[in-house]
Amino acid sequence: MVTIEQRRAQKAAVMRHWRQTSKGRACTNRYVKSDKRKVAQLRYQQAARVEAVEILGGVCQCSCGCQDSRPFILEIAHKNGDGKQHREEIGASAYGMSLWVKRNSLTKRVWLLCPSCHVSWDKSHQCVGIKNSP
Ligand SMILES: [Zn+2]
Ligand SMILES: [Zn+2]
Repeated sequence: MVTIEQRRAQKAAVMRHWRQTSKGRACTNRYVKSDKRKVAQLRYQQAARVEAVEILGGVCQCSCGCQDSRPFILEIAHKNGDGKQHREEIGASAYGMSLWVKRNSLTKRVWLLCPSCHVSWDKSHQCVGIKNSP
């Protein structure tokens, strides 16, 4: 009669042995080094970002009309320049910010800007984009 504990111990011993063999080690290492989870995570983050970008209009919202619509170029900008404070509030990475936008889709706090417009707005609270100049 083999008890459950005995069977468990047996299984653990087999696993231990397997891990110590070169084949097992190689397999374990491969699993550790595997980027699969990272890739899946990244994909999920990118999907959240694309969704956030869509919620915010899908193109650069700047009045200069640059219409930049590349989701991974566009930036979630804070209208009042309180991005740092906001990030502290929600303890967020860029990914967290995407999620926040999804949850607060009617937000007036952020808008979508391409990097060049973003810099302009941060510096001078207006766009000095090429398309805005005469
Ligand atoms: Zn722009
Ligand atoms: Zn602009």
